Amino acid sequence: RYAYANGRFVPHNQASVHIEDRGYQFADGVYEVVPVHQGHVVDEEPHLDRLERSLAELRIDMPMTRHALKLVSHELIRRNVLTNGFIYMQVTRGVAPRDHKFPKSKPRPALTMTTRQLPAKSEAQLEQGFAVITAPDQRWKRCDIKSIALLPNILAKQQAAEAGCDEAWLIDADGNVTEGAATNAWIVTPDKKVVTRQADHAILPGITRLSLTKLMAREGYELEIRPFSKEEAMNATEAFLTSSTNHVMPITKIDGQPVGNGHPGILTLKLREAYVEQVVNEGRG
Ligand code: PLP
Repeated sequence: RYAYANGRFVPHNQASVHIEDRGYQFADGVYEVVPVHQGHVVDEEPHLDRLERSLAELRIDMPMTRHALKLVSHELIRRNVLTNGFIYMQVTRGVAPRDHKFPKSKPRPALTMTTRQLPAKSEAQLEQGFAVITAPDQRWKRCDIKSIALLPNILAKQQAAEAGCDEAWLIDADGNVTEGAATNAWIVTPDKKVVTRQADHAILPGITRLSLTKLMAREGYELEIRPFSKEEAMNATEAFLTSSTNHVMPITKIDGQPVGNGHPGILTLKLREAYVEQVVNEGRG
């Protein structure tokens, strides 16, 4: 297996970064997780758009052109014989003596890339769906930036794991669900409206979320873009989450209570199927 670091492809177990990389010392950097399906990159342009935006918000330069980023990631897929899984890209402000403010030396942004193979979800996993807990959203006020600073997300996800659950839905000061620790949150109301929160500074604008909203518009599904409370979620007939590695995943339990009849929702499964058909399989050629 290979990784890309310091401008080169290197054996994964030999890839390393400098101890004064600002990513290591300050979490001064951003990342992307770009899904790969049957060797093809899914939603490549929107992922690179988001990477560019995250970098611009932090005033970190692109480490190389978008074209070069594609070449490097495709070469890594080839070298690692990656079929299904993801490319992880990380860009930090670079290496400089420790000092909070941006270094005057203007170091080159440090790009690293790795890949990971993931098994496809089994029918049994899909039929079971995910169980989520709710937990306070303890993150900062710029969750729209895909920052590598993820401590609150890590703690929430660990809390979920310790409760035997798959994800944590984060609750803001108003009692609304913002999103999951690493996924976007959706519900279906008793009158069959699909609801997801607006992509403001309180959530990461998920690429799966974006693709699914476009698909829903094309297919004429009704979508309400608005906050929803924990109470509304507990009374929803269906719930699901979206992310690059989970696609559309049914949620069958929230805080130990069954969602609807406790089985994956019909609309959720329809949306999952349409998403896999139209977005995931799209690049197969
Ligand atoms: N929300 C958070 C906090 C995330 O970390 C992620 C991605 O991992 C998502 C949502 C889903 O985004 P995407 O669909 O681009 O994977």
